[in-house]
Amino acid sequence: MSGLRFDGKVVVITGAGNGLGKEYALYYGKKGAKVVVNDLGGSMKGTGASSSAADKVVDEIKAAGGIAVANYDSVEFGEKIIETAIKTFGKIDILINNAGILRDVSFEKMKDEDWDLIYKVHLKGTYACTKAAWPYMREQKYGRIINTSSASGVYGVFGQTNYSSAKLATHGFTLALSKEGQKRNIFVNSICPVAASRLTETIMSKEILQSLKPEYIVPLVAWLSHEDCKETGSIFELGAGYISKLRWQRNQGYFFDTPFTPEDVKSKWDEVSGFGNNVYYPLTSTEIFEIFFNKEEFLKQQ
Ligand code: NAD
Repeated sequence: MSGLRFDGKVVVITGAGNGLGKEYALYYGKKGAKVVVNDLGGSMKGTGASSSAADKVVDEIKAAGGIAVANYDSVEFGEKIIETAIKTFGKIDILINNAGILRDVSFEKMKDEDWDLIYKVHLKGTYACTKAAWPYMREQKYGRIINTSSASGVYGVFGQTNYSSAKLATHGFTLALSKEGQKRNIFVNSICPVAASRLTETIMSKEILQSLKPEYIVPLVAWLSHEDCKETGSIFELGAGYISKLRWQRNQGYFFDTPFTPEDVKSKWDEVSGFGNNVYYPLTSTEIFEIFFNKEEFLKQQ
């Protein structure tokens, strides 16, 4: 079986000067893609800027015989990043929204700046880059977009109300956009990576970090962004060589005789909030209507 190739494809990777983004960039550079290496080059808290992070990765790709160009804009100004792709390579096929920072602090002590900056980089950044790439992808009827969510968003982490909410919002963005892109062969997925990087090096032990190499995230991102892959609207949790897909689960629920009262809800709380054998895995916002408007059918199982 021949390996996956990306010859002729133009890929934009945001935050590609370090960590995961750098691994993606080096991979695509080796597999024939033309790579836009974006990085603002600031601190992990989102302060400062420098061109050296992106430049080093571009140099490394070129030294290995690949094709790459640097871009130093913040992802908030996604149109400038996509412009680099269009002006240099004439198109954009793959967008990896990866740039990220952390501003961890308990909610009590969180300042507006901690909230706003996280939203600017993660959610606004993902929006702005995608918004600029979208018309090109629609026009060419081809696109692959990977958005970087986080287990922090899916499960919630103490001290990360800003980051957790922005990261789950990023997956909401994926879910809605995947529905808009499907007919035009534009597929959008989210990943929740766990990997050693400057974002995790202070919160995990050396032993743990050693088994969480950032290169272990590359194979899933590569496959999801390949033209043969038809997956869309999904979210994956991965690290240390393990990859798994997440989905929503709805419990059986309880259908009350209307009108009903808060006391009725209290009396049926186990049925409303518990998970038994009868569960659903809804994929759309309207599937619940099948229950709303088929009460008789539902009551037979209740
Ligand atoms: P990293 O700090 O090594 O890399 C992030 C890169 O993004 C940096 O090079 C930084 O300069 C760049 N960046 C930051 N703000 C930017 C901006 N406004 N514009 C352009 N570039 C900017 O971190 P990483 O661990 O590789 O993180 C990559 C992504 O994965 C992030 O979105 C992060 O939230 C997410 N993530 C990482 C982990 C993990 O375990 N490492 C877990 C969950 C999610």
